[in-house]
Amino acid sequence: MSRPGTTGQPLRVAIIGAGPTAFYAAEQLLRQPCLVVEVDMLDRLPTPFGLVRGGVAPDHQRIKAVTAAFDKIAGLPGFRFFGGVELGKHVSVEDLRNHYHQIFYATGAQTDRRMGIPGEDLQRSHPATEFVAWYNGHPDYRDCPFDLSQECVAVVGVGNVAIDVARILCRTPEELETTDIADYALEALRESRVREVYLLGRRGPAQAAFTNPEIKELGELADADIVASPDEATLDELSRAALEHAQDRATMKKVEIIQGYATRPPSRKHRRLILRFLVSPVALIGNDAGEVTAMRLVKNRLIATPTGTLLARPSEALEDLAAGLVFRSVGYRGVPLPGVPFNESWGVVLNDKGRVLDPTSQQPLPGEYTGGWIKRGPTGVIGTNKPDATETVACMIEDLVRDFHLHPEQPAPAAAEQMLRDRQPRYVSYPDWRRLNALEIEGGRALGRPRLKFTRVEDMLAALGR
Ligand code: NAP
Repeated sequence: MSRPGTTGQPLRVAIIGAGPTAFYAAEQLLRQPCLVVEVDMLDRLPTPFGLVRGGVAPDHQRIKAVTAAFDKIAGLPGFRFFGGVELGKHVSVEDLRNHYHQIFYATGAQTDRRMGIPGEDLQRSHPATEFVAWYNGHPDYRDCPFDLSQECVAVVGVGNVAIDVARILCRTPEELETTDIADYALEALRESRVREVYLLGRRGPAQAAFTNPEIKELGELADADIVASPDEATLDELSRAALEHAQDRATMKKVEIIQGYATRPPSRKHRRLILRFLVSPVALIGNDAGEVTAMRLVKNRLIATPTGTLLARPSEALEDLAAGLVFRSVGYRGVPLPGVPFNESWGVVLNDKGRVLDPTSQQPLPGEYTGGWIKRGPTGVIGTNKPDATETVACMIEDLVRDFHLHPEQPAPAAAEQMLRDRQPRYVSYPDWRRLNALEIEGGRALGRPRLKFTRVEDMLAALGR
């Protein structure tokens, strides 16, 4: 039989997940100059775009505009989308091996890392990732309860997700009204009694994970003052020396922005956003009803490892911070996919440069690949996934040339479609998604919003007449 990739026998690829990496990989495969490729993209949600729809903050519409590029990719010949189809529920890896020459897992990081401290699971203590999914209208999280009657909120971590959460909590209804935030979230935030939001960094300003445009934006909110203590904003000797040695301009700028906040006079805005550094939560404290009321913090100092990394080392000094609502924003974590080798310690698919490895032999499995956060962990911005996908696609092409791929019993596109239809009769195709998209945009138009999102799967299917 001829090698897959010719007109007579196109290379058939299943991509699992429909986020940025999935689209970047699909584009690179479908644009291969000397190969005929067909891509079936499966996602457990009826809607495509992964974290661009469900993670990127609603007040960052410019970032969300990347979906226009994904939409073009979906228009390339050979592309099909099967929304509402879940690996492990509707189809197994074995089903995919029967229908495709190659499988590409791009499911992202679907849960949060834990802090591992007492009280973490008290009521009103939530993973930030759930709050993000809630305000973005993710169907699985739309009914999560967040008690916004609390005046004081603590967000643990100083990455860009923590910044997003703090910013959304501090925006005015007027600022949010022009975004595509979920309608129920807009209403809940309109009634919010939140007055103070603490962002808690365990290391110093020079080690904060957030990026400069994001921290700068916090200083430009319509009705929230940003506050930092001059003491905590001042660099310790180790950080100062490391920064001078590295001549890292971006970090110097970051420190400058934070120190600017420490000297900025308050302007009596309605809310306060307080940046804290060198503090770690050691316990969450609850009331008799099992709800969080405060957080015990330990003051840290920085120590240098032999490689020069600066780590937080706790001191003896403790303080209690009253907070009736806590968001733990200490990073996302990948979840294992049924039937796919997984590296538990890293929370990623077991892989080498995107080739999925057999856990016993540590050798590549034929025809199985991975990309994005489930390949490398939850780091980087949307664009980081492009070179990541490129690396994996290069392995796929290389392996194809040496005939290292799956040999499906039923490679015809019609056979895969039939199998998927049998397993999930209500799957959503890309033309279906375009109809939903048009309805969402139409719904938003009257309200002066970019779109009014469907947030229930049943509502999406009903709108499609299913
Ligand atoms: P992140 O950037 O890895 O930040 C995680 C934060 O949690 C860090 O401040 C980290 O501190 C802290 N942390 C980890 N474990 C902790 C613990 N046990 N106690 C206290 N603090 C702890 O993760 P993220 O914010 O979830 O973002 C994920 C990725 O998405 C990042 O690459 C981010 O840039 C990207 N993103 C980008 C945007 C944007 O471009 N606007 C928006 C959202 C997300 P240490 O540094 O000390 O470990």
